[in-house]
Formats: sequence, C-alpha cells, structure tokens
Amino acid sequence: CQLQGTIDDCTCQIDTETVDQFNNYKVYPRLSSLLSKDYFRYFQVNLKRPCPFWDDDGSCSFEFCQVKTCREEDVPAGLKGQRAKIKPFTAKDYSYGGNEDCADEDLGSINLTLSEETQAGFERWKVYDQSLVDFCTVKDEIDSDMQYVDLLLNPERYTGYKGPSAIRVWDAIYKENCFRSLGASNSLGPFGTDSSEEVCIEKRTFYRAISGLHASINTHLSSKYLLSDSSGSLFKKGKPEPEWGLNVTEFLNHFEKPEARKTGFPWLKNLYFLYLMELRAIWKASTFLRNFDLYTGNSEDDADLKDAVKDLLTVVGNFPSHFDEKALFSTKDSMKLRSEFHERFTNITRIMDCVGCQKCKLWGKLQVKGLGTALKILFSEPPNFTRGQQEFLSRNEIVALFNAFGRLSESIHQLENFRRMIGPGGKGG
Ligand code: FAD
Repeated sequence: CQLQGTIDDCTCQIDTETVDQFNNYKVYPRLSSLLSKDYFRYFQVNLKRPCPFWDDDGSCSFEFCQVKTCREEDVPAGLKGQRAKIKPFTAKDYSYGGNEDCADEDLGSINLTLSEETQAGFERWKVYDQSLVDFCTVKDEIDSDMQYVDLLLNPERYTGYKGPSAIRVWDAIYKENCFRSLGASNSLGPFGTDSSEEVCIEKRTFYRAISGLHASINTHLSSKYLLSDSSGSLFKKGKPEPEWGLNVTEFLNHFEKPEARKTGFPWLKNLYFLYLMELRAIWKASTFLRNFDLYTGNSEDDADLKDAVKDLLTVVGNFPSHFDEKALFSTKDSMKLRSEFHERFTNITRIMDCVGCQKCKLWGKLQVKGLGTALKILFSEPPNFTRGQQEFLSRNEIVALFNAFGRLSESIHQLENFRRMIGPGGKGG
C-alpha cells in the first residue's frame, strides 16, 4: 500500500500524497462528524427486492450480515415529511406554504427571470434525455418496501461474506458491465498500464470507479475485521460486543494478489480516482447543497448541520486541482457512449439486489446510489442544480452521496494505518 505518484485519468495534476494530506487532516475529521448527524444517518433502502439475474443463494444466514432496521418512530419527524418541507430556492419568493403544487408554481416563475446565459443552458439541456442523467434509475423513494436504516447502527465491516456468492456478484459486475472484453482473465485488471492507451477515457473511468468501490469495500472489511468474538451470538442480550479492528493479513490477501502486483497495485489507485470523482461532484453541486433545505425538524441541530455542511464545502472548494469531467463525453460519438455507460451502470444497480448478505447489500446499494448521484451531477448542465431546482437531488441521494464519499474518505484514512503497521520495508511495500 505504499502508493506514490499522480493519479492518472483524472485530468488533474494530483498525486496520492496530496490526497492523503487533504483527506486525512481536512476532510475526514469533518465528514465523520457530519455523518453522525441525524440528517445523514437515516437512509431509505429496499433490501427485499429480488435478484433479477439468478435465484437467491440463501447465504444471508451469516450472523454478521444482518441489518438492524429502525422503527418509523425512531426517525426524526422532519425527515419523514421531507418532501412536504422542501422550500424551493427562489430569489423572488422565499416564503413557502409547503405543498408540491406551490413548488411547481415557483419553479415556473423562475424561468421568467433567467439570464441569457442560463436560458442558453436550458436550450442546450433540451437535447439531453433526462433518463440518461438519472444514473440510479431505480426510483427507491416511491417504493413501498423501502425501510429506514440507521447507518450508525449498521457499520460497514467484515461480515464473512465471501466465496462463490461474492465472486459471482463481482464477476457479473466486471465481466458483463465494465466494458471488459469477455474471456479476459478475471484476475487481471483490463486497464493495466500496458493497455490503457487502447481504451477510451469514458470506459477507463467506468472501470476505475467500480474497481475503486471494490477496493474501498475490501479496505473496510480489513480495517474493521472480526478480531475476537467472545459473545457467542451477536444478538444475545448481556453479551459483550465482539472486537473489531485492523487485520493486516486480510488486507494483504486482498491487495497482494499476483494479478494486482503485476499491474503495480492499480486497485488502490482506483480508490483515489473514485475519491477525486466524488469530491468533484460535491464541489460542482456546492451552490445547490449550500441552499438545500437540510431539515430534520430540530432547529438547533439544523443550524449546526448547515454550518457543518458549509464548512465542509469550503474545504472541498480549496482542493488544488479537481477532477475534470469535461474530458469525458466530449466527442461526436458521445451520446451513444453515454447511453451505453448509463445502461451498464443501471445493470450494476440491479446486481446489488443479488448480493447474498444484507449488510453488504445495504452498503453496496448506498455506495452505488452515491456514485450514481455523483455521475448525475458531473454530467448535468449547471442550470439543473443552481437555481430553482430544489428537487434536482432528493434527500436520499444527498445522504447516499455524502455517505459514499465518507466511505472513500475513511478507506484512505485507514490506508495510513495499514502503512504504519506494515512499515516501509514490510510485506506491503
Ligand atoms: P474479491 O474481493 O471477492 O474479488 C474477486 C476478484 O476480483 C479477485 O480475485 C480479483 O481478481 C478481482 N479484484 C479484487 N479487488 C479488485 C479491485 N479493487 N479492482 C478490480 N478487481 C479486483 N465482505 C465483508 O466482509 N463486508 C462487506 O461489507 C462486504 N461488502 C460487499 C459488497 C458487495 C457489493 C460485494 C459483491 C461483496 C462484499 N463483500 C463484503 C465481500 C468482499 O468484497 C469480498 O468478495 C470477499 O472478502 C472475498 O474477497 P477475495 O479477496 O476473495 O476477492
């Protein structure tokens, strides 16, 4: 895990050391505190949707795979009525009675006051197909099987999920959905140093984002590994909690595979790559996020929450060189590529319903939704989220985006701990 050098493909001049410093000292402490707040800890998810690709393999009997859902009454009232509480952000009229029809009226009135530049943006926007923007096409918010999950009660960590079920899911993702040539050895990253010139930047980006997510998940399970379990059953009352912590051997087993060695440990660099993508998405949406009505119903908490979000956005804005999404989809073949990109991403969203461990499925779905939200921001025209588009992102998308970014931030923070334990001349060097 002794990573060095620039992170290629982000079309920004950034090396891993700069990201480490920025993340570990500026972003990680702020984000960890922010994500413990009520607004960000309750996520709505459907964990019951059947796998559309193969029969459930029943591996969810693992004890550590269980998800503790929360009762409706545990969730702050303001979050449950979130849609009714949305205040449209308009320069004209900020007083709002609170129903959605009013919101539409207000949005309509904004168009009249658009600057020429913004109007031109809307015109350009018409050529896009909105369905290609919503990368997470599964409309979770209107799903009757949606449950609230308290993320703090269900931390992402080692669950014991591995073997054929887990491999089948990763294989489905890589072989069918990552623009990877079929028949290639699963063990070798398709965009290693030798072949990167042959593959266009959009396809590399797609692969690197998924690989970065995979690297992050495996870093988490190695850094919150089950070290001892004297409790017998996790759910037995009065038993001590098991002990979780760093497991260097587990970490090396994931990242020291011969196939990873051959290509110079690209998987961990993909984690940095994905971090830069989501960082940029948050920065690009920062005006929207600053004005979004983050509301839980507790005015004191809400004031702290807004301050904390603004503080984080200021830090994010000070990052020296952001990921440049304009390098993607910029040629004449872009629309076709973009539609293919979208289709494959939608498939990955569906594959998450096939994960045979509820806890892994929860965090997998959240992180894919967060990535989908980041892509939606990166490939949207600015008018869609600067003025009067309060509903461009739902609360659940914002929660997913910040928590997904929080996962990457924690992974990079944990790499520092692994580096310390392994040492410069250690096995991982
Ligand atoms: P795997 O991680 O299963 O990888 C399969 C193959 O993919 C490897 O042999 C390698 O060739 C390739 N590969 C590995 N990493 C990368 C990468 N970063 N980029 C490109 N290729 C790669 N387990 C938990 O304990 N807790 C969790 O929360 C959890 N969440 C999961 C979420 C999802 C969506 C899935 C599919 C699995 C999850 N797992 C979780 C299981 C975990 O990711 C591993 O599958 C498991 O630990 C077995 O690891 P492995 O080293 O055998 O190879």
